[in-house]
Amino acid sequence: MLNASRPQFDAIVIGAGPAGSTAAYLLAKSGFHVLVLDKQDFPRDKLCGGLLTRKTVLLLEDLFQTSLDYLTSFQVIAHQSARYGVNLRDWTCFRGKLEYPFHFVDRSVYDAFWLQMACKAGAEFRSGEKVISLTPSSSSVITDTGNQYSGRYIIGADGAPSRLRRLLVAGGYIKGNNNPGLATTLEVMVSASRAPALPDYPLIYFGNIPWGYAWCFPRRDLRILGICGLNQKSGTSLKRAMARFLQTVNVSPDSIGALKSHALPYGNFLNQPGAEKVLLVGDACGLADPLLGEGIYYAHKSGQLAALAAIQSYRYSQNAFTLYRHYLSETIIPELKFVRIVRSIIFSLPGSWPGRALSFLLKISPRKCEETLQGQRSYRWLRPVTTASRK
Ligand SMILES: Cc1cc2nc3c(=O)[nH]c(=O)nc-3n(C[C@H](O)[C@H](O)[C@H](O)COP(=O)(O)OP(=O)(O)OC[C@H]3O[C@@H](n4cnc5c(N)ncnc54)[C@H](O)[C@@H]3O)c2cc1C
Repeated sequence: MLNASRPQFDAIVIGAGPAGSTAAYLLAKSGFHVLVLDKQDFPRDKLCGGLLTRKTVLLLEDLFQTSLDYLTSFQVIAHQSARYGVNLRDWTCFRGKLEYPFHFVDRSVYDAFWLQMACKAGAEFRSGEKVISLTPSSSSVITDTGNQYSGRYIIGADGAPSRLRRLLVAGGYIKGNNNPGLATTLEVMVSASRAPALPDYPLIYFGNIPWGYAWCFPRRDLRILGICGLNQKSGTSLKRAMARFLQTVNVSPDSIGALKSHALPYGNFLNQPGAEKVLLVGDACGLADPLLGEGIYYAHKSGQLAALAAIQSYRYSQNAFTLYRHYLSETIIPELKFVRIVRSIIFSLPGSWPGRALSFLLKISPRKCEETLQGQRSYRWLRPVTTASRK
C-alpha cells in the first residue's frame, strides 16, 4: 500500500497477545503491510484467569465480526458461568447470579486464535524475535537474532514487563518508571477432580493479602487459583499469602503444579502512551482495571484505538501519537483513573473491611455492580453506557 522502498513495513507490532493481534488484524484489513514479532512460538502459555466480561465479548463480536457460538465451536471459549461469589477467607460474604454470564478462555488457545485472524487478514508473523532495541526517530527495532526492522508505525504490545516501555523511559521519551502501580501475581492450576470442593463458578477471596485479592476461576475440568498484590503496598511475601489461600480452599500443595508468577498492571497506565510513531497498547501501556485486574478487554480496545490512530495518521497526515492519546483520554483512561481512586478507598480500609465493603455494595445493588463490571455502566458515577459511546 505504501512506499515499498522505505520503511520496510507500514506497521510493526511487537507482541502477539490480544492487544498486538487486534491492532495487526485491523491494520492488515485496512491494507497496511504489517509485521508481527513475538519472542515466543505460538501457541504459547500466558498466565491469566481467562475471565471475559460482557463488554469484551461484545467488542470481539464488533471488531472481528464473530459470535459466541463461533468462538465456542473453535473451543476459544472454554467455560461459562452466571454464578459468582465473594469470600472473606473461608467465609462466604456474597453469592450472586449474573444476567449475562462470564466466559472463560484458555489463553494459549485464545491468543493463537486472534493471531491467526491477523495472519489471515494479511499480517506477517515472525516468532523467536525478541525486541531488544528501539529507535523512535526512525521507527526501527532490533531483535536478539540481530535482525533490524523498520516500520512507519510501531505498536508496542509486549505485555506488562514491556521492554519497549522501559526503552522509552530510558531514552527520556516518556516519564516515570514501571514499578509504581504494578502488582505481582502467582497462579496455579489444579484438576477439579483433585479439589472437588472448589466450585465451577468464579469466586474472589479477600483477607489473604493487603492491597490485593485471590481468585478461583473454573475452566472445564480445571480450577485456576491465583493471588495478586500491589508491589508497593501489599508488603508481604506473596508465596506465604498463596500458601494461606491454598489452606483456605483446602488444596494441598502436593496436588498442584509449579506456582507461576507474572506482573500485572495495577494502576500504572501512562498519560503519555508512547512517543513519536511508537504507540504502547494493552499491558505495555498499563491498561488494566486497577481494582480487579481485568486486562483482556483493555488490550483489545487499545489495540483497536492504536490501529485507528495509525490509519487516520496515514490517510490524513495527522500525528498518530496525538490521535492515539486523544482516543485513550476519551475512553479508557478516565475509567481507569476513577477505578484507581475507588481502589485506593477500598484497600485503605483496615483488615477484612475491603472484602466486606465490596460485598456490601453487591448486596445493596447487585444489578448496578454487574452492569458496571460488564460495561453497561461507566465506573464514573455508574452512568449508563450506550452502545455508541462504548465504540
Ligand atoms: C495471573 C493473571 C491473571 C489474569 N486474569 C485476567 C482475567 O481473568 N481477565 C482479564 O481480563 N485479564 C486478566 N489478566 C490480565 C491479562 O492477562 C492482560 O491484561 C492481557 O494479557 C494483556 O494483553 P497484552 O496483549 O497487552 O499482553 P500479553 O498478553 O502479555 O502479550 C504480550 C506478548 O508480547 C510478547 N513479548 C514480550 N516481550 C517481547 C519482546 N521484547 N519482543 C517480542 N515479543 C515480546 C510476549 O511473548 C507476549 O506474547 C490477568 C493477568 C495475570 C498476570
